[in-house]
Amino acid sequence: MILPLLQGLKLTLQYFFSKKITLQYPEQKWDVAPRWRGRHVLTKHASGKIRCVACMLCATVCPAECISIEAAAEPDNRKYPEKYELDLGRCIFCGFCVEVCPKEAIEMSTAYELSEYSREDLILNKEQLLEPPVARYEPVKKAG
Ligand code: SF4
Ligand code: SF4
Repeated sequence: MILPLLQGLKLTLQYFFSKKITLQYPEQKWDVAPRWRGRHVLTKHASGKIRCVACMLCATVCPAECISIEAAAEPDNRKYPEKYELDLGRCIFCGFCVEVCPKEAIEMSTAYELSEYSREDLILNKEQLLEPPVARYEPVKKAG
């Protein structure tokens, strides 16, 4: 009768003093690996021009069909995306769009706090994708 009780107590104490693998989010946050596939970012040349040439490869390869591009041309015939939208609500974060891009124009950041209150807010436009993701939820400072 007492033996199972002691065995249970031993197990409880073992877990109580073992290394914790959970974090008190959002006070604590994960340090994710550099190759984490998080929120996408469109990259720019040193001149500040968008690297994307609207070749549509990313939109074509995307298995979730979540990239939508409308191409336009500069006076020198260089193509660029007049509209570039990426629907994070559909994205499966496979990274194919990054792999296929011939211009290294799209990257995936380590940002993982992507929740929104509406589906529409999960659709990122070109301007949003050109900005690095901001930390959505700052660690809460405990009072006292
Ligand atoms: S990560 Fe995959 S699913 Fe998401 S936009 Fe890129 S190709 Fe599409
Ligand atoms: S992000 Fe890359 S693959 Fe996608 S349209 Fe632009 S240049 Fe092409």
